[in-house]
Amino acid sequence: MRRAGFLVWLLIFLLLLEASLVSAAQVHYVSNKDSLYKISEWYGVDVPSIARTNNLEAPYTIYPGQVVIVPDPVARPGEIIYRVKAGDSLYSIAKAHGLSKDELMSYNKLASELIYSGQALRIPTKPQPSAVRTLAAAYSASTYYYNIPDLMKAYPARIFLRGQAQDKVVALTFDDGPDPVFTPQILDVLAYHGVPATFFVRGDRVAQYPQVVQRMIQEGHVVGGHSWSHPNLRSLSADRIRWQVENTAKEIKKWTGLEPKLMRPPYGEMSEEGMAELASMDNYLINWSADSNDWQAKGRDDVLIGAIPGSKPGAIVLMHSAGGVGQSLQPTIDALPYFIYTLRVQGYKFVTVDKLLGTPAYKS
Ligand SMILES: [Zn+2]
Repeated sequence: MRRAGFLVWLLIFLLLLEASLVSAAQVHYVSNKDSLYKISEWYGVDVPSIARTNNLEAPYTIYPGQVVIVPDPVARPGEIIYRVKAGDSLYSIAKAHGLSKDELMSYNKLASELIYSGQALRIPTKPQPSAVRTLAAAYSASTYYYNIPDLMKAYPARIFLRGQAQDKVVALTFDDGPDPVFTPQILDVLAYHGVPATFFVRGDRVAQYPQVVQRMIQEGHVVGGHSWSHPNLRSLSADRIRWQVENTAKEIKKWTGLEPKLMRPPYGEMSEEGMAELASMDNYLINWSADSNDWQAKGRDDVLIGAIPGSKPGAIVLMHSAGGVGQSLQPTIDALPYFIYTLRVQGYKFVTVDKLLGTPAYKS
């Protein structure tokens, strides 16, 4: 029956919605007296999990002003994780789970009765499957890649998701610009912090806002192509792909004198025939290893939660400098200073993609 089918889907949707609300990692803004151990106690998440999520090395030094992404606590055998809701008290939570308030407090090593909405409490129970998703699910590998691993085997020196993982360097990349609203603000933030980045630009937008691309070059950034009109290149013929890439390169050269060799396909997707075209044009396909998911962020915390866990040595970080009609990149602009500061105090340097990979950015 149609109606029953609809209700089943509605139920699945609501369950997924609940799961996604429950699994949200959190951003902690580090103040003077914080330590990783205090953060661990406060959020009920063990120190190694937090350190792993933030790529911190022992002795886990953190600095005021940086952010720490706090992953979901993972239930141990014999317990569940309960998220405090508005209106809950320690007494009501304990009673609902057949415990005394004191038992609940001592099990969670709580020093005070103050609890806050969203706080995770461990509830001892008989062994049962936990409904709480782990970080692994939240940060699962991007589903954009599809055939990219196969293409990488065929073109090992042409396709990159990251650089060598030895030094603490990361490359920030911004897709979909230029635009007259958000890209200039991102350039302002990068200039203020002295961070070089790589912009993968759309040909049709370069034609509209060439002065923004000229500014990128003047301020020490690298510009690569992101197709002319942002189609999924996997669904285009080899000829159309060549047209998308060549026309964009020509447009960039027209305004900057530089013909890019770095190419990021929209959605990170490329067909086998298209890859052969790219290689014959002496282009490099540059995807990413850390996806900030900034285009769907509701605020800066979402961007930080997306970007920081993947920002390991050699990472290529995906962000955006322009969106579709009516789309705001304000969360990206707001998150950038925290992202930059957090990585810098942990010893990272920012480089452009060509420097990270040791490939030329432009044709000579
Ligand atoms: Zn794009």
